[in-house]
Amino acid sequence: MARVYNFSAGPAVLPEAVLKEAAAEMLDYRGSGMSVMEMSHRSKVFQEILNTAEQDLRDLMNIPANYKVMFLQGGAYQQFAAIPMNLMKNRVADYIITGQWAKKAFQEAKLYGDACAVASSADRNFSYIPDCSDLPIRDNADYVYICQNNTIYGTTFKQLPNTKGKTLVADVSSCFLSEPVDVEKYGVIYGGVQKNVGPAGVVIAIVREDLITEDVLPGTPTMLRYKTHADAGSLFNTPPCYGIYICGKVFQWLKSMGGLEAMKARNEEKAAILYNFLDRSQLFKGTVEKDSRSLMNVPFVTGSEELDAAFVSAATKAGLVNLKGHRTVGGMRASIYNAMPKEGVEQLVAFMEEFEKKNG
Ligand SMILES: *Cc1c(COP(=O)(O)O)cnc(C)c1O
Repeated sequence: MARVYNFSAGPAVLPEAVLKEAAAEMLDYRGSGMSVMEMSHRSKVFQEILNTAEQDLRDLMNIPANYKVMFLQGGAYQQFAAIPMNLMKNRVADYIITGQWAKKAFQEAKLYGDACAVASSADRNFSYIPDCSDLPIRDNADYVYICQNNTIYGTTFKQLPNTKGKTLVADVSSCFLSEPVDVEKYGVIYGGVQKNVGPAGVVIAIVREDLITEDVLPGTPTMLRYKTHADAGSLFNTPPCYGIYICGKVFQWLKSMGGLEAMKARNEEKAAILYNFLDRSQLFKGTVEKDSRSLMNVPFVTGSEELDAAFVSAATKAGLVNLKGHRTVGGMRASIYNAMPKEGVEQLVAFMEEFEKKNG
């Protein structure tokens, strides 16, 4: 059975080398006589897996010593609540609304305090990133929140917002490890791993130490306190062991590929193949303003719902799968995460060219 080119937005493609290694270790992880799925999270073997994963992530992202790395559960969605519960000392936070995930985080924050939308790109269906150089950030804002890469709309911040000295919190679910980041510019960087890093079930939160305190909103559950997990080294209770193990393998794969600078170059090359085609095609059009285009999620349309559906169905038959766009944008979306090889994007473009010849 041949593997397909999987353009799913998430859960999404993983490096084949990682899947093969995991398969080879399935029944007997390195002489332990058992699968990583079967071992105690308190065992030495698992502690080693966790330590190595954390260290490799620190190496890849150049994470300074005064940031904690936590492997959590509950999806990115649970962080929509955890963030205000842990950070809203004044119960004031400013949100930049660039899509559905930012909006959902904003709505969740309103349950806990005075969350304000200080910028939005809703006016043009989130097809761009607003100018964030001089926003009305409030003096007593506990943090400024962004969704750095908008998985559904295919936009990304090319420049971080001017937070006027306030703590920046970023959901990086769909651009995690796609390029280097300057961790020190953020108070919290977090994301679900199922887009670009690993299997669903793990959320990674990288949080500056001074933001991890006992001073959380009243009623914050033990499990949602950053301090709980930071103090316990992600072993307060049973963590998502197998998922962490796969993330660790992806970190090693990324290192073997040359790290995040090399991934960025690869991702730019892949994205350019697709965007260059969209810019010259008479049939297919990108839906995002050029200076806001994501390297990871590329939405496009033909302008006709019937042709869109015909394209998705023909592409599926050709082994190019999960190209249907999100229902709020329509059309198609190609997610071309780290693990999507360049050949996958080239085949997609070749297929689009053929389709255009027949249907243009
Ligand atoms: C997928 C996604 C989410 C939601 O993640 P869950 O793990 O399903 O809660 C949040 N933010 C972004 C940017 C996403 O792409």
